[in-house]
Amino acid sequence: MSTRTGLRTHSCGELRASDVGSEVKLCGWVHRLRDHKGVLFADLRDRHGFTQVVFRPEDGGDLHQVGESLRPEDVVQIRGEVEKRPDGKINPKLPTGEVELRAKQVVILNRSETPPFEVRDSLSVSQELRLKHRYLDIRNPAVMEKFEFRHRLAHDLRQRLHGEGFLEIETPFLTKSTPEGARDYLVPSRVAPGSFYALPQSPQLFKQILMVSGVDRYFQFVRCFRDEDLRADRQPEFTQVDLEMSFVEEDDVIGLVEVVVAGAVGSALGIEIPTPFPRILYSRAMEKYGSDCPDLRFGMEICDITDLAAESPFQVFRNVAESGGKIKGISAPGAAGSLSRKEIDSLIPFATEAGAKGLAWAKVEKDGLTGPVAKHFPAEAGQALRERMGAEPGDLLLFVADEETVAAQALGALRVEMAKRLDMIPKKTFRFAWVTEFPLFEKDSEGRISARHHPFTAPAVEDLAILEERPLDVRARAYDLVLNGAEVGGGSIRIHARDVQKRVFATLGIDEAMAQEKFGFLLDALSYGAPPHGGIALGFDRLVTQCLELASIREVIAFPKTTAATCPLTGAPAGVEDVQLEELGLARTGPAPGQRG
Ligand code: ASP
Repeated sequence: MSTRTGLRTHSCGELRASDVGSEVKLCGWVHRLRDHKGVLFADLRDRHGFTQVVFRPEDGGDLHQVGESLRPEDVVQIRGEVEKRPDGKINPKLPTGEVELRAKQVVILNRSETPPFEVRDSLSVSQELRLKHRYLDIRNPAVMEKFEFRHRLAHDLRQRLHGEGFLEIETPFLTKSTPEGARDYLVPSRVAPGSFYALPQSPQLFKQILMVSGVDRYFQFVRCFRDEDLRADRQPEFTQVDLEMSFVEEDDVIGLVEVVVAGAVGSALGIEIPTPFPRILYSRAMEKYGSDCPDLRFGMEICDITDLAAESPFQVFRNVAESGGKIKGISAPGAAGSLSRKEIDSLIPFATEAGAKGLAWAKVEKDGLTGPVAKHFPAEAGQALRERMGAEPGDLLLFVADEETVAAQALGALRVEMAKRLDMIPKKTFRFAWVTEFPLFEKDSEGRISARHHPFTAPAVEDLAILEERPLDVRARAYDLVLNGAEVGGGSIRIHARDVQKRVFATLGIDEAMAQEKFGFLLDALSYGAPPHGGIALGFDRLVTQCLELASIREVIAFPKTTAATCPLTGAPAGVEDVQLEELGLARTGPAPGQRG
């Protein structure tokens, strides 16, 4: 790769001992300056690395003056001669560390104001400030390298999909709403006042229609838009690697995707990722890990102790068991000694946030249990509990007694928290898994039946007969891809028969007229020889975040939004002129932004 241009002969990461004696031109930003008894040193930075530039007093006063005038983040062109660094001054950590550039001429391409933070320290300043001056933040090699990784992974995935016969096809952004469970971003139409486009929550329907078109294998790196409350792993716009295949069953999609993903992630990280990925039934994931995104980097699985608890004299446990609830627990290895009472109490919110009423605990000692619950499990009962939970002396037992899912989810949250506190999560370990056999439907917060993935997911063939009578028992032909406890993909075999699609709409309370109005174009397409098909979308930002073991997807998005869905760099979202609203046939109901209060 050559970075040579009219302004430079080399990049700042390129010069080596073999270049000593040559005359070169470099361009870059002033990173750091040092004055060593009148000899000036400047580290010049660009995306490719650093080169040390030296200004020697004997090379002329004018040159020296320019050198002295340099400030961090000035962007300059420097012509000079490559010299070997004196012995003892070699920097083995830097690829260019054997040489320095002896400046002969400096052209200031552009001066910089004093930056609001030092580029090399950008990771330690506030999120708001980093995003406001994102151009400075990205100059930090520790930030830039994430985008280089992202690029490499994207490039590799693309090549592998291309190798598997996928066509990359773009689908529209100005479209009709596709239900993926979030609110739509709407775009008003000027030519049809009062009408709106919706930005796609995913290209779901277009990719299905491409299968009806005979495209056979489609993929796209595509931006999706969802207006929902933001968390560390959510952004209003995010990138999916969206794909769809015709004439497939679950194993075809799963088998192809895991080979592509393991290959690309493995090569981007320089490690081997074994395939096939383990598959876990949704019901088992909930039972053992209290989550549909289990983190398999550590054990501490959840145990059901309802039968043992029902026999204990502990009224709280007995009541829950008698009313059909469950008592479940985890055994945190070695935590009995290392966690103080106060620290154990600080775990309570993890249980209550998941909806549990409380948290019970006991410590395992050599000769029995201690702690608040211990007296209810004396001698043999304690021993039985210990055996069931595979606990050793020194372990801390945590229990939640509640309705089954609440108990599982609370312990799922505690399991992850304890693993963090006990340092049980190994670094640089990447554990993928498929979660399968999800329920097709769930009840939403208002008790209505809604699609767990989206309404185009096919029901298990054997469950078609109970679709209307027992919808909540119908299994979906869906699969999620999980990496280290995060959902990094989700997909399914789709409904390709018009009548089944209509039955699913009806179960969701979407009547004929509404189905026709909203999804008539899909139903029409399904009536013209739609092939069996299925696919998946990988959450690309999340995949990169997990690979780099980062805490937030904002770190791998060049211009992300804050948790308030704002962009500190541009100030979006922002007000618009009244005339723009008039053109769109819109009227304000309140004061314009900025005129409030
Ligand atoms: N459209 C789905 C989503 O965005 C993915 C899929 O089913 O392929 O989650």
